[in-house]
Amino acid sequence: MISETDLTHLGRCVALARAALDAGDSPFGSVLVRTSTGAVLREDRNRITTGRDVTLHPELSLVVWAQRRLTDPADRADTTVYTSGEHCPMCAAAHANAGMGRIVYVASSARLGEWREEMGATPGPVALLPVSVVAPGVRCVEGLTDGIGDADADADGKGTASASTPGTPTETGGSISSGSAALIREVKELHRLKHERQQQQQQQTQAGLKPVET
Ligand SMILES: [Zn+2]
Repeated sequence: MISETDLTHLGRCVALARAALDAGDSPFGSVLVRTSTGAVLREDRNRITTGRDVTLHPELSLVVWAQRRLTDPADRADTTVYTSGEHCPMCAAAHANAGMGRIVYVASSARLGEWREEMGATPGPVALLPVSVVAPGVRCVEGLTDGIGDADADADGKGTASASTPGTPTETGGSISSGSAALIREVKELHRLKHERQQQQQQQTQAGLKPVET
């Protein structure tokens, strides 16, 4: 389903997601690659807190960059966006409208939603619709290979790829399987840490407000 090269780019996305979290932003990172050559064109991470702008998702920043720098539509189509979490509806719509190419992600929106529910996080204001619903024409591949029992992330191992071709031989070596499972676990851990920090901040805010309230 995914190659060693895909896994390398996804690993970079997770490193960017960790850098985002360390900086105080949400743990998401993305890499833009020219599909035909494999050249890395651009990378970015979430900056919604430090940039004070809710649209600073890395997936959207890459589309903005691509529109300016890849002015030939054929060049934009010849791209793959690797990302730590599946595009949200805002980013999926921009990606499709700009005529960008394939998307490969570590954690699906459904999985992110399940994690948030497990953690008891309040649902966000935007529905976690999959790219396949928002932008059905975009080829989208989940990084977690089929059949991996990732007990921490998803017991049923339902790593389905909307773009998986029936009859295509599956050459998922053990290293790729274990590598993608490790990435999923790491992304989940980053989101757990983010949730933990948010809760701490809320408690501190509430503690700080108490004297004012009474
Ligand atoms: Zn987004």
